[in-house]
Amino acid sequence: MTFTYERFIEKWRTIHNLREVQELVDWDQQVMMPPLGTEQKGFQQAALAGVVHSMLTDPGMGELIEELSLRGDLDLYQTANLRDAKREWEKETKIPARLVEERAHAVALAQGSWLEARKNNDFSAFAPFLEKVVAITREMAEAVGGGNPYDVLIDDFEPGMTENVLKGVFSALKGRLVGLNDKIEGGSHPPTQEPVTRFFPREKQEAFCVFLAKEMGYDFNAGRLDVSAHPFTSGTRRDVRITTRYDERFLNTALFGVMHEAGHALYEQGLDPDRYRDPSGQACSLGIHESQSRLWENLIGRSRAFWVHYYPELKRFFPGVLDDVDLDTFYGAINVSRPSLIRVEADEATYNLHIIMRFEIESDLMAGRLKVGDLPAAWNAKSRELLGIEPEEDANGVLQDVHWSAGLIGYFPTYALGNLFSAQFMEAARRDLPDIEERLEKGDLISLRKWLGENIHFYGRLYLAEDLCEKVTGKKPSGDALMSSLEGKYSEIYGF
Ligand code: ZN
Repeated sequence: MTFTYERFIEKWRTIHNLREVQELVDWDQQVMMPPLGTEQKGFQQAALAGVVHSMLTDPGMGELIEELSLRGDLDLYQTANLRDAKREWEKETKIPARLVEERAHAVALAQGSWLEARKNNDFSAFAPFLEKVVAITREMAEAVGGGNPYDVLIDDFEPGMTENVLKGVFSALKGRLVGLNDKIEGGSHPPTQEPVTRFFPREKQEAFCVFLAKEMGYDFNAGRLDVSAHPFTSGTRRDVRITTRYDERFLNTALFGVMHEAGHALYEQGLDPDRYRDPSGQACSLGIHESQSRLWENLIGRSRAFWVHYYPELKRFFPGVLDDVDLDTFYGAINVSRPSLIRVEADEATYNLHIIMRFEIESDLMAGRLKVGDLPAAWNAKSRELLGIEPEEDANGVLQDVHWSAGLIGYFPTYALGNLFSAQFMEAARRDLPDIEERLEKGDLISLRKWLGENIHFYGRLYLAEDLCEKVTGKKPSGDALMSSLEGKYSEIYGF
């Protein structure tokens, strides 16, 4: 038995090592690569993907999994590793190689077409390419089987999650969010964003971001901060890199961007050192990952308690710039909320509505209730219904996100799940650390980091996201904690 398990786990650790290299190649492409390197990067990625795929689909892997499945003497971690390995192996082997190739080809074409279509505001030029991607994605989901194709797709990003569970959570959340935004709009003292749109020199922003990331406990000996067009986090354990972008006329971009990515990075740096290369030792799900970034970005970074200590620090980094702005004015400025068209620019109160509309559209699309050609109309109607505004052109509407052209259907819900989980985790942290508010006001971020490490990071994927949430918070995922956090905060800031 031991020998079989050793062979099994070594294969999965090798796959993990190769995936780290894939991530590193991607990081290089986005951060360091000279402009002419694109073609070679394509070859490198294809070669690595081929090796990983053949390791996963090797008949020897199937035999090992089958043999271990018959044993009754696996411990907790071994059982979890087998569960996750089997899940991935089954998906990988059920999808015919022909479909994998067709999809890679269709996605490459669709992404090129999407870039053009967004630039020219021409959805109809993109539609046939998207149709192809949607058809192949559905075919792949059907090949995996299990009934609802949308469930199969969601499961890729959020193992164990289903459309039905999401539908329940999101439909309860939707009305409350729309109601909150109405109240915000009618608030008696709306804050101004002006203070954070003053001039903040780039080098000083970088210095402040590095300072904050260190305060959060991000280990720069096991990471680094660079610049990229789209901020992201890459790597795991002792090599976790984050990126950001700077806007000298808008403090929020880099400040909250770095807190967000450092939140992701703390998760990766905090995984169990003995298990981080095992299937069940890695990050739990995209939703749980996003809960860590959102918790630091929104629930800490946009909280008043945090700025009691760090606002004087911020002023020290930018002498003179905010002399006439008191703490509460600054706190209001970083929490301005208004419905907007673009998801990635949306604030905490409106963001989840952007996700819920995408979820409802994906659900209709996968069930065949909606055709690709009808997407712009459906998009605009939902935008009006949920956000009260409608894009004048598709470039700012249905064409704004890269996800669908990349075949990433079922990915969006994880963003909103991250927000839900983050509020639920924060509620549990307050329960376990009753003086957390005072600790934050003193600039103690490490207590919270330690709590997250012990309750979430260390477990990796031992539990499914829903179960982890219940284990940590005592409750199933729901919008309740998120809504009470948002309602409490915005009623105070906006006066309603
Ligand atoms: Zn994120």
